[in-house]
Amino acid sequence: MQKNCIFCQIANGEIPCHKIFEDDDVLAFLDISQVTKGHALVICKEHYENFLSTPKDLVHKVMDIAQRVGQVQIQMLGAKGVNIVSNCYENAGQSVMHFHVHVIPRYGKTDSFILEMKDNSKESLNLPAIADQIKLK
Ligand code: 5GP
Ligand code: ZN
Repeated sequence: MQKNCIFCQIANGEIPCHKIFEDDDVLAFLDISQVTKGHALVICKEHYENFLSTPKDLVHKVMDIAQRVGQVQIQMLGAKGVNIVSNCYENAGQSVMHFHVHVIPRYGKTDSFILEMKDNSKESLNLPAIADQIKLK
């Protein structure tokens, strides 16, 4: 438990939330911002900074619940798609420094969630060198 961490406080029951799943390790609840109707967060109860620094077994448990939440959003809310997002570090938009996965139901390409991936392929990048740099060993 990290002092002043809002998600630790939610996991501990000190701050209320609209819970949709809970077991010993994982909690899922509605995001307060409701970017789209049913926007949910899945967190591990233990405090880790983000996806990149969380132990694998906990990442797997969180992703398992994120998958189930996405399936239910489609079945029960009539969502036509789902975005699964985990922001890592401030530069990627992370504002709560406790690992969480957003499960964002989508109701159409022009609903209130925007994820823009611009085609940058015109820039002359050395793709073989980049692939080599980030090759997993
Ligand atoms: P991030 O920006 O770190 O990827 O996502 C943090 C998310 O936590 C935001 O979407 C924000 O709306 C949500 N959030 C922040 N404080 C609270 C809270 O007290 N309760 C709930 N349910 N969500 C929160
Ligand atoms: Zn925390």
